[in-house]
Amino acid sequence: MKRVAILGSTGSVGHQALNVIRAQPASFTVVGLAAGRNLALLRDQAQEFRPEALALTHAPPPAARTDGQNGSAWADLQSCSPDGARVYAGADSLRDLTLSTKPDIVVAATTGLVGLSAILAALEAGIDVALANKESLIAASDLLFAAASRSGAAILPVDSEHSAIFQCLVGEDRSRVTRVILTASGGPFRTLPAAAMAKITPEQALAHPTWQMGPKITIDSATLMNKGMEVLEAGILFGRTLDYVDVVIHPQSIVHSLVEFSDGSVKAQLGYPDMELPIQYALGYPQRLASSFRPLDLAALGQLTFEAPDPVRFPCLSLAREAGRLGGTAPAVLCAADEVVVRWFLDGRLPFTAIATVIEAVLNEHPPQAVESVEQLLAVERWALEQSEETARRMAHRSGRMPVGAETR
Ligand code: MG
Repeated sequence: MKRVAILGSTGSVGHQALNVIRAQPASFTVVGLAAGRNLALLRDQAQEFRPEALALTHAPPPAARTDGQNGSAWADLQSCSPDGARVYAGADSLRDLTLSTKPDIVVAATTGLVGLSAILAALEAGIDVALANKESLIAASDLLFAAASRSGAAILPVDSEHSAIFQCLVGEDRSRVTRVILTASGGPFRTLPAAAMAKITPEQALAHPTWQMGPKITIDSATLMNKGMEVLEAGILFGRTLDYVDVVIHPQSIVHSLVEFSDGSVKAQLGYPDMELPIQYALGYPQRLASSFRPLDLAALGQLTFEAPDPVRFPCLSLAREAGRLGGTAPAVLCAADEVVVRWFLDGRLPFTAIATVIEAVLNEHPPQAVESVEQLLAVERWALEQSEETARRMAHRSGRMPVGAETR
């Protein structure tokens, strides 16, 4: 029986991790659940799974309640916790929950860098991390791997592509890997002409053809920024330079990724697109657990097709590689800029094509530094968030989407 804590339990990956745990009661027990703002769903999850501790990052710690601003959220959180469960709130709550529950494995499913110090603390304490939080890995890989190698904790990929590669590498000598090939669905605009890209609406971009995911990652899939970040993730997780990592578009999302070896052999992992499979593999690792899966019917699928990505219509793919080549704090800036500009696009304040333009402009403003600490990364992230807001605002004025002065709404 593994004790599991989930950071980001009310998001898409957190929700699916709880589905896996619900279906495997003999293998897993939930000891901690942490959310950002969604108190109502956290309350429901707590009542079902009865964890030892709960955390809400956007509720204030008790000392801050005197202002009366958020006291009710704190009181709600305490009243919804199962008998005896500890309750943490505020910026340090993810780390407090992780260290106090001493889980065997932490599912890191938060976004941005909000979970970074908790992930680092878990690895330092020898707790395995099932990592779904791309930004923390991309921004802080050196810190995370140094902590993991000191304690012996494992960093287990949850992303479907990286889980596929990880599964292909079982029993293999990693020095014999000559190439990693990440598959990408190509998103909803795979065949859209370049001239039509500027007219894409948020509704169109949110309709992903194969995967059910949260809104941020769905937009990142439409721009291929998600794949660009996954190229960086693959280089980090499998200890290779980005030259070893290729991307191929595979619209059916059945082949989840491939690994090429020095004898020319290529291994792939296949399955229907369903995040519960890679989540279950990471939670169960090194065991492969059974599940009630839908058998793969290749004859019914008929065809699996592949094509090269188009770097002209999808410049985010090259931007991510460029951030990876620059190294240091550049990938953290890439992630922060992307977070801001995706929100601007979803709010209808910038066109789809401005996403890459803003990110490139912000990256160009940033002289990368070697990564030394979480505090430094959080400061770089703050700078990049502000710089991206400013750049997005200027660009929105120029494109006439927003009258000058209206940005304060
Ligand atoms: Mg993925």
